[in-house]
Amino acid sequence: MAIRVSTTIADGAALVADIERRSGERVSACYQCGRCTSTCAAAFAFDYPPHRIMRLLQLGQVDKVLNSRTAQLCFDCMTCSSRCPMTIDVANVIEQVKMIADEHGIRVNKEKSIRLFRRAFLKNVRRHGRLHEARLLTWINLRSFKPFNDLAVVPLILRRKKVHIVPPKIRNRREIHRIFHEVNGNGGGNGNSDRHGGGK
Ligand code: SF4
Ligand code: SF4
Repeated sequence: MAIRVSTTIADGAALVADIERRSGERVSACYQCGRCTSTCAAAFAFDYPPHRIMRLLQLGQVDKVLNSRTAQLCFDCMTCSSRCPMTIDVANVIEQVKMIADEHGIRVNKEKSIRLFRRAFLKNVRRHGRLHEARLLTWINLRSFKPFNDLAVVPLILRRKKVHIVPPKIRNRREIHRIFHEVNGNGGGNGNSDRHGGGK
């Protein structure tokens, strides 16, 4: 069950100011054109599409935003950010919402499969320097106790060379480790945000 943050109007304004400060974006600049929503591949699953998130923030209704499915399901693809005529980084605004929710003890990623995927994804990138899909899928299947999940499509994927068996080689992998270490403070995945490797 979602933990609700009760915000007064003053609290709401302060939280919106905090979101703006952290993201470096001006929520008030949004004029509700809806382009972010029309390009969002996940909007159909959200309770509030991106433009409504912006509007709720403008109105100081932060508790709705903090407890939204949008904060839970947004996968940071940044398409919305790239299409905004006001050059608002909407994805970053939503990311800051996730971080603040986390700080308020709201479990943004309530769905186990999402948490599992985020943790697996970051672990994978940290280890290989970039995504190694075969290992990612194997890890998720094993951790979710569904070892044969999607097994039927594996031959097709391999035939089309969509997934490589051997992990990719990248140069300067230590630099990736350094970035993770810097973002998480200790390199152990204890940061506040799943985006930074701290899945809950
Ligand atoms: S695209 Fe930009 S201006 Fe338009 S609704 Fe979304 S955030 Fe607001
Ligand atoms: S970053 Fe999130 S809100 Fe924006 S387009 Fe991608 S999934 Fe939608």
